[in-house]
Amino acid sequence: QEVILDHYKNPLNKKLAPTFDAQVHHINPSCGDEITLNLTAVDGVITAITWDGVGCSISQASTSVVSDLIRGRTISEALTIIAAFQAMIQSKGTDSGDEELLGDGVAFAGVSKFPARVKCALLGWMAVKDAISQATAQKQ
Ligand code: ZN
Repeated sequence: QEVILDHYKNPLNKKLAPTFDAQVHHINPSCGDEITLNLTAVDGVITAITWDGVGCSISQASTSVVSDLIRGRTISEALTIIAAFQAMIQSKGTDSGDEELLGDGVAFAGVSKFPARVKCALLGWMAVKDAISQATAQKQ
């Protein structure tokens, strides 16, 4: 709870960078959450994730967490981390998450018990996943 509130009040990387390899816009209509996210990847490493958005504390805090956690990772590391978060958040409370892999992301484990909030928590992570696939598709 504390971690979520902290990220909500002081979001990380919440200022869209003017240059990027991929830009995505994701919305969660069931709650009114909305984010735009810019991603840059150099030689298979994600060097920048910046974003802007509006919505509930869970969606905004979760996007702050993922933007910080994924920066500096290789694309395959990033996809592993995102898959682990997705498994945790869809586990209905049975998977408390690997803190070594997910960092502050484990703070959202409790959200998995509330189906209505799962989409809020996933919004930023799915946006990063989408941005990665767009950035890598462009470079091939
Ligand atoms: Zn929400």
